[in-house]
Amino acid sequence: MKEVELACEVFRKLLEEQLARIAGMNGEKTDFTTKKQVTIGVIDGDGIGPIITAQATRVLETLLSDEIAAGSIVIKQIEGLTIENRLACGKPIPEDVLAAIKSCDVLLKGPTTTPMGGKMESANVAMRRELDLYANCRPVCIPEKNIDWMFYRENTEGEYVLGSRGVELPGMAVDFKVTTDLGTRRIARAAFEYAKNNGKTHVAVVTKANIMKKTDGRFTAICHEVAKDYPGITVDDYYIDIMTANLLKEPLRQQFQVVLLPNLYGDIITDEAAQIQGGVGTAGSANIGDRYAMFEAIHGSAPRMIERGMGQYANPASIIKAAAMLLRHICRTSAADRLEKAMAKCPVEVRSDGTGVTAEQYTDALISQLS
Ligand code: NAD
Repeated sequence: MKEVELACEVFRKLLEEQLARIAGMNGEKTDFTTKKQVTIGVIDGDGIGPIITAQATRVLETLLSDEIAAGSIVIKQIEGLTIENRLACGKPIPEDVLAAIKSCDVLLKGPTTTPMGGKMESANVAMRRELDLYANCRPVCIPEKNIDWMFYRENTEGEYVLGSRGVELPGMAVDFKVTTDLGTRRIARAAFEYAKNNGKTHVAVVTKANIMKKTDGRFTAICHEVAKDYPGITVDDYYIDIMTANLLKEPLRQQFQVVLLPNLYGDIITDEAAQIQGGVGTAGSANIGDRYAMFEAIHGSAPRMIERGMGQYANPASIIKAAAMLLRHICRTSAADRLEKAMAKCPVEVRSDGTGVTAEQYTDALISQLS
């Protein structure tokens, strides 16, 4: 059948591309302890993006004012990663925007709208691939409930990397999923290093390896291989279905520390975890590669808030938390500590129904708490 032949051709091309991707994983890391000048690129994004990103930028400019004056930190606004421009250029990241992004070391990014109906790849998926941002780190912390979780989600493989590349035949559709040894080893290494450097003693590996035997099976096996280099850390395997339940189960959930997952499961379960913390507006995330890193809120562009004229009540805490992670990543630890302490004691609250303060008023109060 002609369609089957065509589908096999697509699959062959995918396999060749994935082999080329593996060959390009070089592992050279940026050393921020010695880098003379660090450029932070700021991307506004769509919907509520410009509103909350402006507030996070104010916070960074306040905390880093001396270094900005001395030239060791540069904050660079990157224009053009808007839904309008992306659709006009027909690219998830227009070429000039990608060049501007690649001239930076780290990025603070507002949420970007993904065109409906599969018209175009998401800007985020494209950015993770272009910058090889393989580790998505999402902390969830609720001290009063004794919860302190760090999720390490693989960010460049699984269903996402091939999600726009499926095949359709008469009467059926097929998508693909890929797991590579190098890709799994580097995310597992990142998670175990985090555990070791932060006094954590438990890593939960979460997959659906009982069903996805090749990809998730390989992911689990490699995580256990890497674990052998970390003798003080216990590793347990969970399936994603029971893990979604376990995050709600007392007192079991308090024992989780670092959770290591492939891409799709990580995407789903971190929204659940953020909801437990108080909503997606409260959670930040880091997308880390060897050369570049990008920091953002975990939520989207909230277009309905804009349609309802409530954009100023979008909570900027999510992207400000991401800014704290950015500071830590570029080794500005004391600035990150100051910011996190100020957030913990900030006396005002933004509520999306408009009954609290605005994003700007929250940030004014936060900046006044910086000590
Ligand atoms: P969403 O995260 O934008 O909104 C989900 C719900 O959370 C909505 O009720 C929204 O009002 C609320 N919300 C989100 N951020 C908030 C904030 N800071 N403060 C208060 N309330 C907040 O999810 P969605 O509607 O599914 O997605 C909208 C668009 O964003 C889509 O195009 C989607 O593809 C895109 N998206 C982008 C990213 C990203 O850029 N990282 C992530 C997720 C979704």
